[in-house]
This record gives sequence, C-alpha cells and structure tokens, in this order.
Amino acid sequence: MNMRVLTRLLLATSLFLPAASAMAAEERPRLVLTIVVDQMRYDYLQRFGAEFSGGLKRLLEEGAVFTNAHYEAAPTVTAVGHATILSGATPSVSGIPGNAFYDRTAGRQVQSITDVDVSALGEEGTGASPRRLAVSTVGDELKLSGHGGKVFGVSMKDRSAILPAGRAADAAYWFGDRGNIVSSTWYFPALPQWVQDYNATQPAARFGGVEWAGLQLPALNDEDFYARLDETALADELVLEFALLLMEQEDLGSDAATDLLSVSFSATDYLGHSHGIDVPQMRAMMLSVDEKIGRLIDAAQQRAGRNALLVVLTADHGVARRPEDNAADGLPGGRYEARDERRAVEEALDAAFGAGDYVIGSGEMSMYLSRAPHAAAVADGATPPAPVSRAAMEQVAAATLRQLPKVARVYTRTELESPLFGGDRIDQRVRNGFNALGSGDVIVVHEPGWMNRPAGTTHGSPWAYDSHVPLIFWGPGSLVEPGRYHGAVAIHDIAATLATLLNIALPSGSMGRTLDEMLP
Ligand SMILES: [Zn+2]
Repeated sequence: MNMRVLTRLLLATSLFLPAASAMAAEERPRLVLTIVVDQMRYDYLQRFGAEFSGGLKRLLEEGAVFTNAHYEAAPTVTAVGHATILSGATPSVSGIPGNAFYDRTAGRQVQSITDVDVSALGEEGTGASPRRLAVSTVGDELKLSGHGGKVFGVSMKDRSAILPAGRAADAAYWFGDRGNIVSSTWYFPALPQWVQDYNATQPAARFGGVEWAGLQLPALNDEDFYARLDETALADELVLEFALLLMEQEDLGSDAATDLLSVSFSATDYLGHSHGIDVPQMRAMMLSVDEKIGRLIDAAQQRAGRNALLVVLTADHGVARRPEDNAADGLPGGRYEARDERRAVEEALDAAFGAGDYVIGSGEMSMYLSRAPHAAAVADGATPPAPVSRAAMEQVAAATLRQLPKVARVYTRTELESPLFGGDRIDQRVRNGFNALGSGDVIVVHEPGWMNRPAGTTHGSPWAYDSHVPLIFWGPGSLVEPGRYHGAVAIHDIAATLATLLNIALPSGSMGRTLDEMLP
C-alpha cells in the first residue's frame, strides 16, 4: 500500500470513527444504577475513605471521581437535590423549588410530591406522585428513545424515590409510616403481588428493641419506633433489601434494553439532623453505607455484567456542622428564629401600608407575601388601606430583613425575575433555585453557619458545606475514564452526561453540560 492510500484510509477511518457518545447498541449499558446518599458531605470521603472496604472503596479506586461537584442552586434540600440529579434541571425550571412550598393556586403549603388526585397504596395516607415535576428525567428519555427498559426509584423517603425516577417510571417505592413498602396509583392500580408478599413478612419487625452503634431502638409497638429506626443504618438495610429484591423480581439488567434503578439511602440525613455530624455514629453510618453500596453494586453486576453496568454515586445536599461545634472551634455560626424575622417583616409592612395580613408563608429561604393583604378589612366592610403593589411590599420586607443580624443577602422577586440579574456564585445559586411559581417573594440567605433550628443541625443554604457533595461515575472503560477530576462541576451536569453515555435525548430542562473530561 502506498503512502497516499494509507493516508487516505487513515483519514477516512478517523472521519467515520464513531464518537465515544455514539455507542453501538451492544455497548449500551443494560443497567444504570444511580445511588444517592442523603446528606452526604463530600468530605465524608476524605474523613472515612481510608476505612472503606466495600462499594465506596471500589467507586473511589475504579471510578471517575469529581472532587469539586456542587449544587449550583439553593435551597439545598432533599426534594430539590433528588429532582435535579436525573433531570439536570435547577428549581428555576424543574417545578420543585423546595421540600415544601406555598401553592398560590391552592392557597396552602404543599409538599413537593403530595398529590390529591392519586391514592396511596400499601398504607393509608396522602397520595404522592411526580406531578409537580415540570421536566423529563433520564429515565423518561430512556423510555422515549426506544432503547429503554424499566425505570424504578426506591428510598425510605417518598420524594427521594419519586423525583429521580421521573413521570414515566414503572414505579417508585418508599417506606410508609408503619414500615410497609408503599407507592401510589400514579404508577398502577395496586401494588404488585411480590411487594404485597414482602410487606406481609413485616420486614422492619426484626429491628424492634435492637441497638445500633450505641443507639437503642424502642420496641416495635412503641410509637417512636419508626422515627428512631430512620436514624440508624438498619433503615438503609431495609432499603437495600428491597432494592435487591426488586432487581430480581423485575429482572433488571438482563437484556439489551437499558433499565434504570435509582436507590436513595436516607439514614445519614436523619442521623445528621438529630445528632450532628461530629459523632461516632456518623463514622459507623458511612462504613455501613460503604458496605451496602458494595452489596448493591455486586448484585447489579451479577445481573448486567461488569461491562454493561453504569453506576453514578452522589448526594442530594451536604450539611452544616452544629453551631455549638463550630463555636468550640472558633468558627462563625449560631441559631436564629425564623418566626422573629417573619414578625419583624409583618410589623414593618403594617407600619408602611396599614394593618393587614402580609406574610402568608415562609420556609427554606422563601418568604411569601399576600397579593391581597387587606382582604380581611374588605370582608368586614371596613374601609381598607390604600392598595399596595407587590414590588412596594417586597422593598419594605427586604429592607427590614437586611437590617437583621446574621442576614447575609436578601433578594426580591422583582430582582430575581429581571433578565439583568447577575452577581457572584451565591447570587447565581439563589437565581437557579428561584421558581416563579413556587418560590417566595423575598429570598433570604443567612451568614455561613447560621440556622433556623433549635437543636441538631441542618442544610438548605447556598454555602459550600451544603452544596459540595460526592460525584462518582463508574462503568466499563468504553464509557468512563477512571481518575480524579478536580475542576468545578455541577450536579445538574449528571443528566447531560448520562444522556450522552446512553445516546438518548437530553431531559427537557437539562441545564448542564456533558462531563466530557471523563469520556475515554
Ligand atoms: Zn436530603
């Protein structure tokens, strides 16, 4: 072969070489396993990594590990995180701006997944569904692509099972208040028989009166049993047990159609909220998470094979240290009362615009202002004060909040809805977290370390301790180049990356990029 022919051939080959993203059908994963650890700070990998021997060790050694992955939206709470991971959508477009928010149409506070148009299955209770999720997920697009198989979400928490799975999922399963696996009529008219059979075994009963890492559980019939169980690794054991059973019963990963299973472990979150993060139980919890993730990956690998399994590990948000622990180390922080702030705003609005009912809701950084603050006076037949614009109320509320101690930044709806809104990374996180339908009219960010909680600790802020979480992709060498990636990336990049790896359409609200630095 002469040189010219060779060059032409090489050129032709390189031109027609498929991109890493354009996978041949046989290279497509049979199973995508997304694992979420609720309230897992990135630094848990650094603190406890040397002691890992299970799944986290394997992911750290064999995966593409992103060391600087953040939520680029606030509030950093469970529903927002779980809605973002597989949609790539920030609250500004996802329709899920909080765990709970004020629904102006309904005139009341709602949970992200409560749905009065569906019924609970497995236990009495309020129906739940992904109806408020305004965007598609990776699972939804997988189904629409024609390459998709089954899509499931499993967690202790309803929102953590429902939101990652998406609207077209085959099912989401979570734990009811009495320890049963539950779901809703969004997915099917009745629980599958194998789920009913599992519930009949009373899976949580074996943990009545049991001790875990120095935490003593009450007896099974004690009314606090399930709340206390959730703070122990035994709750994660139940989630794992059910996820393993589901993989088997639904035959996940067994054929060329790509199945997707999202598993979210919640015990880390319950433990952290109640006890803080600097307790010996948190080490025990992370060692348990490491062991459970190992069993989950082993089972998934047995079903799909090493080369047809793609795993993503992340968290839904981080968490602050307890203010008292920060104070002991000379770091800033403390506790404030949100109701004091609400009262100050009410008083300032009364003084400025006449007595009325101005603040109709607050929580998760949002304060909601009434559109008709003088309605009660009108209804009583009294002469109401002069009408007041929303923007004028926002101004007074924001000015009042800015004067309060430990308030770092205040934003108004008018500012956040302006196309001219700019600012630094914190400002952008607030903007990305602001949803015109569900968010409040005044958004408040407190100084780092300050929280509205009388004891324990919490999360929800745009600060790094809440935004910085683990992100690891693990899969065959044809999809994932193992290593450490230190550039800043966003959790809303996961969905675009998975869409590229699976060769499917981007979820509709995807705001991120493909993490092409880890593509082989
Ligand atoms: Zn959470």
